[in-house]
Amino acid sequence: MPSAPGVMLGAGVAGWTEGQRAGVGWNGGYCGQCDFCRRGDFFACQSGWGVTGVNFDGGYAEYMVASASALALLPEELSPADAAPLMCAGVTTFNALRRSAARAGELVAVLGLGGLGHLGVQYAAKMGFKTVAIARGKDKEALARQLGAWHYIDSQSQDPAAELARLGGAKVVLATVTDAKAMNATAGGLAANGKLLVLGVPAEPLAVPAFLLIGGRRAVEGCYSGISIDSQDTLAFSVLSGVRSMNEVYPLDRVTEAYDRMISGKARFRVVLTMES
Ligand SMILES: [Zn+2]
Repeated sequence: MPSAPGVMLGAGVAGWTEGQRAGVGWNGGYCGQCDFCRRGDFFACQSGWGVTGVNFDGGYAEYMVASASALALLPEELSPADAAPLMCAGVTTFNALRRSAARAGELVAVLGLGGLGHLGVQYAAKMGFKTVAIARGKDKEALARQLGAWHYIDSQSQDPAAELARLGGAKVVLATVTDAKAMNATAGGLAANGKLLVLGVPAEPLAVPAFLLIGGRRAVEGCYSGISIDSQDTLAFSVLSGVRSMNEVYPLDRVTEAYDRMISGKARFRVVLTMES
């Protein structure tokens, strides 16, 4: 969580000024020296700082120590509570879409309308894609349209693959759910050269017919969230385009309640902790 006073710098840190507002996402930085970093694949760094909150302390606190390579510049227009989810679910969806082969005007489907999906639909629409939201139940359609979806598919009463095919096929399906069957059910709706981008992590393996991949040169690809510059670009684009996460905000002294709410899966859509009591 970015904190109000801004950064203080260790010896030898270049490119930052003390007092600048910065955020740290779950990528804890990278070394710049291993073979992966030397090839530009910073996300795959073998000897960097690792993951924030896993390899070093970084959450549930007012201050933290981080590698300079983990810092994203926080625009003045964003409060810390606005910025925090954009540096997690935001960068994950934004970065996957902007690195995809989809071009403006092409059909992009977002599977799921939860924490990731409600941002994915907004980013896809703002990037100029013909955005299709896929979720369970007719009652989610109004929200999908409000977020910018051009079309809505109710996966409970419609076959997502058939519907996507009827619309001409999707260049990208951004799969944000954690249900392998729901992901499998969209693969048949990919256009030629289309990609199923996997962001959610189902417990079950995916099952996509090989002939489907071969026949239309389709692919299934995993999407790593992003590194600090990806977070920074996400924040800047969100300011530019007005994309925001819908949050339930709790003060740190109600952390247990906030955690339970997050685990329940009922939060709409992100749970954010603030330092105010
Ligand atoms: Zn490295």
